[in-house]
Amino acid sequence: MIDPDIFGYDFDAYLEVIADFTDNELIPAENEMVEAGAVPPRIVARMAELGLFAITIPRAYGGLEWTMEQQVRLTFEFTRASCVYRSRFSTVIGLCSQAILDHGTEEQRQRLLPAMAAGELVTAFALTEEEAGSDAGSLTTTAVRSGDNYVLNGSKRYITNAAWADAFVVFARTDQSKPGADGISAFIVDAGSNGVRTALPEIMNGHAEGPVGEIHLDDVEVPVENLLGGVEGAGLTMALRGINHARLHVAATCIGQGTRLLEETTAHVNGRRQFGSAIAELGAVQATLGGSFAELEAGRSLTVECARAFDEGSIPRHRIASAKLFSSEMVGRVADRCVQLLGGEGIVGPHPVPRMWRDVRALRIYEGSSPIHERNLGRAMIKQVAADGTLPNTYRV
Ligand SMILES: Cc1cc2nc3c(=O)[nH]c(=O)nc-3n(C[C@H](O)[C@H](O)[C@H](O)COP(=O)(O)OP(=O)(O)OC[C@H]3O[C@@H](n4cnc5c(N)ncnc54)[C@H](O)[C@@H]3O)c2cc1C
Repeated sequence: MIDPDIFGYDFDAYLEVIADFTDNELIPAENEMVEAGAVPPRIVARMAELGLFAITIPRAYGGLEWTMEQQVRLTFEFTRASCVYRSRFSTVIGLCSQAILDHGTEEQRQRLLPAMAAGELVTAFALTEEEAGSDAGSLTTTAVRSGDNYVLNGSKRYITNAAWADAFVVFARTDQSKPGADGISAFIVDAGSNGVRTALPEIMNGHAEGPVGEIHLDDVEVPVENLLGGVEGAGLTMALRGINHARLHVAATCIGQGTRLLEETTAHVNGRRQFGSAIAELGAVQATLGGSFAELEAGRSLTVECARAFDEGSIPRHRIASAKLFSSEMVGRVADRCVQLLGGEGIVGPHPVPRMWRDVRALRIYEGSSPIHERNLGRAMIKQVAADGTLPNTYRV
């Protein structure tokens, strides 16, 4: 449950609360999280109490209703800590709640969003399958109408929060005669339903404390009122609403991670002495830091600018894709340089930088891998220039 006082805070006061939480609770608990292999339950309870499950949800549904620019600025703060913490509530605030908000029925919004905002209903977003990753439209999980239920069969993999979610938003094919996106619908599936089984991978290379999981659906009966929006065939359109939202949050996550990586690394080079002085005195080290800082700030500006455009109205999906692509590639480069500047400590021992280096690698794979974004942006440019000579989502008057 959210601390009732939180609802009275203006944004600057709330941002201060989240910055303090990051510095005084999230970062100090990182080693405990690594040892336990999971986010400590008391930290999850504090996230709920401070409203982190609620930042994107309207006040009418029990949320805090911050703007996208404010969400991005909050993300810059809490992702100075391990990005695994964010994963614990990311599927609620982005992928799932936004699809329900924009495409759910009013009954579904009233039933689900207040509990999600309170952190009492954790949801996972179940799209990816073994044969349907980048090509999500080729998924084969089926949903067949049977009286007042749909019966779902299939398997999902790589699903964030699968193992501890209370409910899943599952994408399944309702019309076998339509291959591709047109035959896909979205369902809200209670994780406790008969026929639902989840499994965790044995090995995670990065994000180890927030493992993704498999969801197996074996003749799972889902009531018709849990068909998202009450309409068949629009599942992937509904998914894209949450995906665009989440992509901008991922871009902001890259900035928070990059900030911490550079703070930690700069402190290290200030203290590490070789050749008779701090290695921070070496020109090559200074250039590496300075170039990385400039890239970080370029990503920050792009992400904030994109969030402002989002708040102004239509979703600038090509700019969002650009922010996600640039920022995730940027933090990969920065993390690699930081490991280099740590020398052996970048490989051996418990320094946070190598853990973050492993964690940020996944940011270039989920929410659309970098090559998919490059391809889609290129295609959009070619199409629009052919139509009217301009680039998509640009600032031209
Ligand atoms: C940590 C993590 C969390 C995740 N969380 C979720 C979740 O909550 N819900 C969910 O549904 N899924 C989730 N995913 C899955 C994620 O969305 C997929 O991994 C991603 O879409 C890529 O699919 P794939 O892994 O099957 O790779 P593939 O589709 O096999 O692609 C592999 C690589 O091939 C290249 N490639 C593929 N297609 C093209 C193309 N057309 N053009 C150019 N290059 C191409 C790219 O380099 C790509 O990285 C998560 C994944 C990870 C790693």
